[in-house]
Amino acid sequence: MTATRRAQRGRRRRVLLIARVRAAALALPARTGCGDRLRSRWLRAPLVAAVLAMAVLNGCSDSLRQHEFAAMSTVVRVSVYGRNPDWQAFESAAHAYASRYDHRDPASPVARLNRDGAADLDPLTAATLSRAVQLAEATGGAFDPTVLPVTRLWDFDGGGTLPEPAALRAALDRVDYRRLQVTGASAVLHDAELDLGAIGKGAVVDHLADWLADRGYRRFLLEAGGDVLVSDLKPDGTQWRIWIRHPRSADAPLTIAAIGAAGQRVALATSGDYERFMERDGVRYHHILNPATGHPDSDAASVSVIAGSAIEADALATALFVLGSGGEELLRGGYPGIEGVIMYRAGEELAALTSEQFPALHGRVNVN
Ligand code: ADP
Ligand code: MG
Repeated sequence: MTATRRAQRGRRRRVLLIARVRAAALALPARTGCGDRLRSRWLRAPLVAAVLAMAVLNGCSDSLRQHEFAAMSTVVRVSVYGRNPDWQAFESAAHAYASRYDHRDPASPVARLNRDGAADLDPLTAATLSRAVQLAEATGGAFDPTVLPVTRLWDFDGGGTLPEPAALRAALDRVDYRRLQVTGASAVLHDAELDLGAIGKGAVVDHLADWLADRGYRRFLLEAGGDVLVSDLKPDGTQWRIWIRHPRSADAPLTIAAIGAAGQRVALATSGDYERFMERDGVRYHHILNPATGHPDSDAASVSVIAGSAIEADALATALFVLGSGGEELLRGGYPGIEGVIMYRAGEELAALTSEQFPALHGRVNVN
């Protein structure tokens, strides 16, 4: 083998042997103790009393506040630097955002569209739906928001059933994102039904980031069941460290990704076959379906995507999961500005496809 071919092969099939790292789910710093710093200044210089009073009123700008609650069938976790937000109002906002994308909520705009085939929309829902169409287009329909007739047959929410082939064929005929048209504040859906399960959490995380930004928060981290968004850097100027689990071991990291940039938002979403699945006759069927076949026929085990917004990261993680090892083109340049990893089954082993800047993987993984 020539040196060049050896180098090429080495690049394609690097076998990484890195020690397992155990880390907290989100490796955030302990409280920064800015209150303590102000207190000691207060003792030295009484004039600082005014500053202290203002700090107490406004909240200390680099105190870490954390909060978690249940929403969207998962746990939403928030870390913000600054004063405590009104957590009650934050939770109410999260539930209100989530319900508008829930097709099971009869009052939601999505349910109205599914029922009536047309609806006038609030600006947020209109923006999310037109984004959904763009993302479906950008992924060649691997992410398709009109997948409801098929997801209903598989019924993963109800424990899972194997659909009858004829019923599946009939349902597939109605799956096509081009049947959804959004014009300004109104949408039309031609003989189709929306399931926003693959982007709902991402969209809500983006909205919650806007909610915090509108109230003056700059540095924060939001997480909802595999969808993470960070805003800016931590007060010490470092990035946020995100623990991504290994698809075959809940307590081992696949990698720890350091994400975040000054003045910007960065999102990271993960979709895995371990999240929701059913087993029949020893075969495992996961909840992410190929809109072209109606089956969970991907070779992917998990996919993580880093993008500029949570809705993009969420949709792309689902789409790249559907494509599995066939997602190389989309991952490596097909959608500008993203980084990611596709973990896929190669015989008995797991292999990885990564984009150029994606963090190195831990453990023994064949990287292609
Ligand atoms: P999770 O919500 O478990 O984090 P995803 O973001 O990948 O995972 O979304 C999966 C959900 O999206 C499914 O439960 C289903 O409602 C819906 N879905 C499944 N396959 C697709 C697909 N190919 N395109 C769009 N939505 C899908
Ligand atoms: Mg998704």
